[in-house]
Amino acid sequence: MKKNIYTLLFSTLFFTSVSMASSDFYVEEVSKNLIVFTQNDQQGLIIINGNSSIVVDPMSQETTKNIQNFLATNDKPMIGHIIYSHSHWDRISTGKATLNKDIEVIAQQECGMYLSNNNKDVLGPTIYFQDTFKISDEGKEIDLYYYGPSHGECMIVIHLVEENLLFVPDLLHTKGASFPRDPTLPYLRPSTLINFFTELEKLAEEKEITSFIGGHKENKLIGLTSIIAEQRIFWELIQTTASPIIILSK
Ligand SMILES: [Zn+2]
Repeated sequence: MKKNIYTLLFSTLFFTSVSMASSDFYVEEVSKNLIVFTQNDQQGLIIINGNSSIVVDPMSQETTKNIQNFLATNDKPMIGHIIYSHSHWDRISTGKATLNKDIEVIAQQECGMYLSNNNKDVLGPTIYFQDTFKISDEGKEIDLYYYGPSHGECMIVIHLVEENLLFVPDLLHTKGASFPRDPTLPYLRPSTLINFFTELEKLAEEKEITSFIGGHKENKLIGLTSIIAEQRIFWELIQTTASPIIILSK
């Protein structure tokens, strides 16, 4: 009897991992021109822009191939632009996936120190920008903003103007304010976090943006931008609580 339970448990686990390796790529249409894709709990965007598609964070060779298959089988334009939301390895590795040679690859300037070593698994950026960058050809407007180090050195946020929606890859959860998935120092810049959220609040207010999508799979795909202020207050409380401890430990 015991043996049967273990056998069943083992075969269930084995089956789960195999099925995840081959079929955990999902897409969800937010609007006619905006598709969210998910693989291994990581989320990125496909933006249909006239005769080409823009991919935000191709993730990995497997994901890039899945995106290309999805576009080809659904009669959608192939990838013309890639935007790296930041330089972390789990967002940028297209490997040997077959991509159009004259693809434009866009990243923030500070990503350069991580992306300039000619790694064959990463398509090198063709465009670097400092503070803001606008894509407005083919009728669609997509605005990129950089507010200094936050999650790593070069994470940007993306305003999808047509949908009036923000893409904030890390540091925000659609369920509300909380610690990030990985709060360790390579993934967090505590000294500049408050500034990042303050600037993000200003952007949402100025452009009247009420919703955002994050870079990881969550129960709710879309969150309210009121969470930005909640998250700023969360970090302010952490800093206020931590300051006396830091002073006492000196
Ligand atoms: Zn990251």
